[in-house]
This record gives sequence, C-alpha cells and structure tokens, in this order.
Amino acid sequence: MVTAFIGLGANILDPQAQLITALQALQNLPETRLITWSSLYSSRPLGPQDQPDYVNAVAEIHTGLSAHLLLEQLQQQEKHQGRQKLRHWGERCIDLDILLYGDEQMRTDDLTIPHPGLTERDFVLQPLLEIAPALTLPDGRRLQQIVPSFDGALTQLYRPVIDL
Ligand code: AMP
Repeated sequence: MVTAFIGLGANILDPQAQLITALQALQNLPETRLITWSSLYSSRPLGPQDQPDYVNAVAEIHTGLSAHLLLEQLQQQEKHQGRQKLRHWGERCIDLDILLYGDEQMRTDDLTIPHPGLTERDFVLQPLLEIAPALTLPDGRRLQQIVPSFDGALTQLYRPVIDL
C-alpha cells in the first residue's frame, strides 16, 4: 500500500456537497482506504476572476492502485460527478488531483507527481499542513519549510463528517 494525498476542489453546483461526495468516493475506490481528510477551505479563484470562490480540501489515502490507475479512477469519479471542461482554469464541479504518491517523482504525458501546484498554492499547502504537519516531500524538503505566510485569501470552513 502506498500513502497518497489527493487535492479536491470545486466552485459550482454546491461545491461543499461535491467535495463530500468525492471524499466518500475515495473510500470506495478499489484497493483503497480513506485515512484522513482536512477541513474544507474557501479560496479565491486562480485565473478568471468572474467565477465563484472555490472550496478546497486534501485527503490522505492508502492505495494498492498504481499512480496511473489511481488517476484513471479519479477521472472516472470526476465524470461521474458531471465534470465538464468549460474553460482553462475555469469553473468546475469537481477537480481531483494526485498531489503526492508515496515518494514518487514522475513526469509523463498525463501525470506529474508531485503535482506542480503543490508548493505554490495556499489552498493545497494549508489543508495538507492540517492533516500531515510532519510531511517531508520527495525532494527532502519539509512541508513546514515551504508553507507561505497566510495571506488571508483562504478561509477555513469546517471538517465534514464522512462515513467510513
Ligand atoms: P485538471 O484540469 O486540473 O483536471 O487537469 C487534468 C489533466 O492534468 C489530466 O489530463 C491529467 O492527465 C493531468 N495531470 C498531470 N498530473 C496530474 C496529477 N498529479 N493529478 C491529476 N492530474 C494530473
């Protein structure tokens, strides 16, 4: 089993409910257990500003799936929740990213791990820090060393109840 961290985001069609549905779905993936999850956070959109704020969270899973099979499962779940590509960096009802997959570092056509946004985005770093404060990244950096100072653009909401 590999410990992986999944980033979740949504900003349309009841984003909080979308994230809760997706967290529940992680527990139901084959060969996978949901270990823990962060609070939901509200964040300002990246890219186009004429779209609603996002709700973000991070989950820790243990999985027997390869990184590529995991990506496939996450994309199926996005489809299942009705995700449509509207525009680049635009609104979406669910986005599921593999942030970390064990200590893997890979760059293929369809998969870059660690996720390139991990070290730059407060809405990823803050929830990750909430659930894994002692985490060390595959390049040896400690998560706590790279968390940028809180700039107020992120609001911690609440930690949802998920049935395991
Ligand atoms: P997005 O619009 O954020 O859902 O981007 C989806 C695309 O990013 C897909 O075509 C994936 O193949 C690609 N991708 C690359 N690295 C990752 C990753 N670590 N997690 C999820 N998707 C990834």
